[in-house]
Amino acid sequence: MKSFKHIFEQYQWDEILSGIMTKTETDVLHALANSKRSLEDFKALISPAAKPYLEQMAQISSNSTKKRFGNTIQMYAPMYLSNECQNICTYCGFSMTNAIPRRTLTDEEVLKEVAFLKSKGYDHILLVTGEANRTVGVDYINNAIRLIQSKFANITIEVQPMDQSDYELLIDSGLYAVLVYQETYHKEEYKKHHPKGRKSNFDYRLETPDRLGRAGIHKIGLGALFGLEDWRVDSFFTALHLNYLQKVYWKTKYSISFPRLRPHSGGLEPKVEMTDADLVQLICAFRLLDEDVELSMSTRESELFREHIVNLGITSISAESKTNPGGYAVEPQSLEQFEISDERSTEEIVAMLKSKGLEVVWKDWAYNWQ
Ligand code: SF4
Repeated sequence: MKSFKHIFEQYQWDEILSGIMTKTETDVLHALANSKRSLEDFKALISPAAKPYLEQMAQISSNSTKKRFGNTIQMYAPMYLSNECQNICTYCGFSMTNAIPRRTLTDEEVLKEVAFLKSKGYDHILLVTGEANRTVGVDYINNAIRLIQSKFANITIEVQPMDQSDYELLIDSGLYAVLVYQETYHKEEYKKHHPKGRKSNFDYRLETPDRLGRAGIHKIGLGALFGLEDWRVDSFFTALHLNYLQKVYWKTKYSISFPRLRPHSGGLEPKVEMTDADLVQLICAFRLLDEDVELSMSTRESELFREHIVNLGITSISAESKTNPGGYAVEPQSLEQFEISDERSTEEIVAMLKSKGLEVVWKDWAYNWQ
């Protein structure tokens, strides 16, 4: 069966890198002038040659986002159900060999966390688990979705990649969207960071959005973990992946996230630094490439950065996030997957967004458009 893997294998990492780094001012001006932009334009917009045009990019990105999404921003909350994990990932606090207390929420505990998030106004929840098939496999996720599906307009998951039939089952139970980040599209580096467990299978992960598309999911979230490899090349492959999926699974909606490596227990230092200016450039470049794609920002980023970026292209944002199972109401002191940076309450974030002229919406965009 055809999948993104066949497209991906036609590209060489080093050629993409040199293609981006040799883009010129003329290429950037051409990309800015175009109304419909290609992947070559995207390369120009993420290149060093585009740095002097950042303000212009931000202006176009902001206008385009307002035109498509209005003066609104969508709020969601992550809920960690379990920190059990059978993988080793060099950058994650939940990695199998980290000696931390493991916990998986019971139904009663899930409902306690849900009650807390509902009291804050959330109607879009992101369920997160580690990858531990025996404890938090398909049955556990299915049970959690069924348990809470009447309480939320949208349920998204960020859990282990699954087979198409598993996704079909979960969609029947009320699943709305799936986030599956490739972490890095550099196959050799990927192996170094995922030496053990099912996640070490690069191709299975790469083809997950195809299985989701075939299962008929409403929305797929893509992204790379910036810091593992060159952020420009990883972003190009993310854009290539998006471009492919939009053509093949055209009924599905898409979102992009921009996680940068954060400190955690047994922490990994970023191999490649991505500055705040780089991240602004990238967010604007994605908006210039595609005015429909949703762009999401988590609490990994600082207060200042998030305040700056919410008017420049971002369409959804989380607040008050806890990255430990039971972190909201059951056991607020347990160990987090990574340290969050913006620790403000939901109410403070809502007030900040309002002060920037943004109306907060609590359901996913598809529902707001109906
Ligand atoms: S990133 Fe995911 S799969 Fe890897 S160790 Fe962390 S929880 Fe497990």
